[in-house]
Amino acid sequence: MSDQLADFSTNPFDDDKLHEECGVFGIYNSKDAAAHTVLGLHALQHRGQEAAGITSFDGAFHSRKKMGQVAEKFTNQKALDELPGERAIGHVRYSTTGVSSLTNCQPMYAEFASGGFAVAHNGNLTNAAVLKRQLVKRGSIFQSTSDTETILHLIATSNFRTQTDRFIDTLRQIEGAYSLVALTTKGLFGARDPLGVRPLVLGKLDDAFILASETCALDIIGAEYVRDIEPGEVVTINKDGLKSLKPFPAKNPRPCIFEHVYFARPDSLVDGMSVYNSRKNIGHELAREKPVDADLVIPVPDSGTPAALGYAEESGIPFELGIIRNHYVGRTFIEPSDQIRHFGVKLKHNANRWHIKGKRVVLVDDSIVRGTTSLKIVNMMREAGATEVHMRIASPPTNNSCFYGVDTPEREKLLAAQMDVEAMCKHIGADSLSFISIDGLYRATGNLEGRDKKCPTFCDACFTGEYPAPLIDHEAAKDEQ
Ligand code: SF4
Repeated sequence: MSDQLADFSTNPFDDDKLHEECGVFGIYNSKDAAAHTVLGLHALQHRGQEAAGITSFDGAFHSRKKMGQVAEKFTNQKALDELPGERAIGHVRYSTTGVSSLTNCQPMYAEFASGGFAVAHNGNLTNAAVLKRQLVKRGSIFQSTSDTETILHLIATSNFRTQTDRFIDTLRQIEGAYSLVALTTKGLFGARDPLGVRPLVLGKLDDAFILASETCALDIIGAEYVRDIEPGEVVTINKDGLKSLKPFPAKNPRPCIFEHVYFARPDSLVDGMSVYNSRKNIGHELAREKPVDADLVIPVPDSGTPAALGYAEESGIPFELGIIRNHYVGRTFIEPSDQIRHFGVKLKHNANRWHIKGKRVVLVDDSIVRGTTSLKIVNMMREAGATEVHMRIASPPTNNSCFYGVDTPEREKLLAAQMDVEAMCKHIGADSLSFISIDGLYRATGNLEGRDKKCPTFCDACFTGEYPAPLIDHEAAKDEQ
């Protein structure tokens, strides 16, 4: 699901990152369903900090949605008391389509003739606008600007009888990226689009089934990771247990490769792969592909750290924490006053200058989006006395927008879409700048031969421009211009 939003981040580096839009969690058959959902969403907070919501069921549906972070809004007894029942779903949101308001928050709920239905969505539908126009013509009245509401209207207007058939009928009409959890009067649904762009895992805790965007949400409640929901798989979970359905023609899966670079937590498994290992492997590959003579390898915290460790291991150059993060910058600094605004990046990060002075440093970061962060950090290193600053990036140049549930600036605002690597290097003021190759990134994520051009195993469209799911709304908007 997606929207334009206010910056809720307290991290001045975050304005120059791609943002995952959402995380989802669902649980069936737990006495502590709401509490477990709160914990699961807290573990998924990195996937969206704008708003959070939970819907539970105990014979009736109960919903609570709040702007802000999970720990601030849901960790009190009153919040839990308002969400009774042994099944629940939840959502954390960043958002890129629609506007930033509670109306667009999830889970979204509708009352159908066949019973209530609540849904939470990670991803972005690429034909939501076209479908919405058709639905509105047929009389549907939309309450929000979120693409996820389209799913509810399609279910409402489906000609099929059972809720499972209506749900599958809906999935057959939508395009793009979706990992969904849905709560019904009978149980829980989980679904992942046929390309498997966004992740979704299955867990067990005693007799409870859990669905979550990442395994870190299973760890926090002590649940066991069972497996990933497969691309194109729909699971129904109810009193009879779990049933797996494959209602779509099989496709070559294309999960998002950026989950391994930046979005997912390093302690998660994504599609069975350790994200931490992927990131360290990326560092190894980067050191082999783009070596440099230097005295220190320094990660740009926090997401650059595993790749920097890998780079240091492979190159033999010592690893040092050359940038220290202040973890106590609170929400006070969301809208800094003019007096403190000019401190900018230093509110949150400071150069460990006693270790940098007189050294040739290799800075390792996960990506360059607009380039504003890289410029500040290179400058920070120079001010701290570095004699040379070499930048190494753990992903290829990001020169295309994402349409599958990640907030990316328009293509024109991406630095790599505006200039070549040499010009980027000059722009950020580094002595050298290099990116891992697309083949190196594939090798690091388990494809030892590199990227198979005919049959790539990931979505890598933000690097290659090859979009695996059709961009129906985008193309329609271009035709209208
Ligand atoms: Fe991931 Fe990039 Fe594909 Fe978006 S375009 S799903 S960020 S790889």
